[in-house]
Amino acid sequence: MNITVFLGAPGSGKGTQAKQLAEKFGFVHLSTGDMLRAAIKQQLPVGIKAKTYMDQGNLVPDSVMIELIEETLASLNEGANIILDGFPRTVPQAQALDSKVRTRVSQAINFLVPEAILVPRLTGRRVCPNCGESFHLVFIPPKKKDACDKCFTALVQRNDDTEEVVRRRLEVFKAQNEGLVGYFSDHKKLINLNADKAVNTIQDELLKVLKQ
Ligand code: AMP
Repeated sequence: MNITVFLGAPGSGKGTQAKQLAEKFGFVHLSTGDMLRAAIKQQLPVGIKAKTYMDQGNLVPDSVMIELIEETLASLNEGANIILDGFPRTVPQAQALDSKVRTRVSQAINFLVPEAILVPRLTGRRVCPNCGESFHLVFIPPKKKDACDKCFTALVQRNDDTEEVVRRRLEVFKAQNEGLVGYFSDHKKLINLNADKAVNTIQDELLKVLKQ
């Protein structure tokens, strides 16, 4: 099992890249945010536990997240090439992942973008509640106003993409990020990536460093 972690602020483009790499090159994209949102939709116990934290822009407790990711990784086959998007978000989560040989991280790619672009990127995001496709009012507008290009469902704003919650999410990110980056740097697994570039350019750079 080969695990690459994508580190970076909310809105730094980790999810966009991971999704495309999965579609085009067969990586297994695991987004803990997507997993939690699916669990909320299905009213599963983990979703019910997570919802209040998520709506406020806070982190879901480590114990809940570690159990969720361990269960998911255990269900994948040994040869899987995994991109973890949104996990780990704390040092205890990183340690939990590395504590078992099977789930030890190979590399952590740190998406670096200027802070000033994050708030407009997140507050302008609109998502399709049916197929999960993501748009942006300014940067990736849907072809037909307010409707998904793929399945024509009306687009919505995520509960945690409102300006107040976005600011809280960025605060939470800053509080955890230094420790997390330090952890992977100490373990000689950190790769810094300038992610303030076109999506395709970043993807080419990622393909050069990703262990396949
Ligand atoms: P994301 O879609 O990655 O921005 O995640 C949305 C929200 O899900 C976060 O603001 C947290 O509330 C929660 N979440 C996702 N992944 C984690 C994690 N690894 N640890 C704690 N909370 C998480």
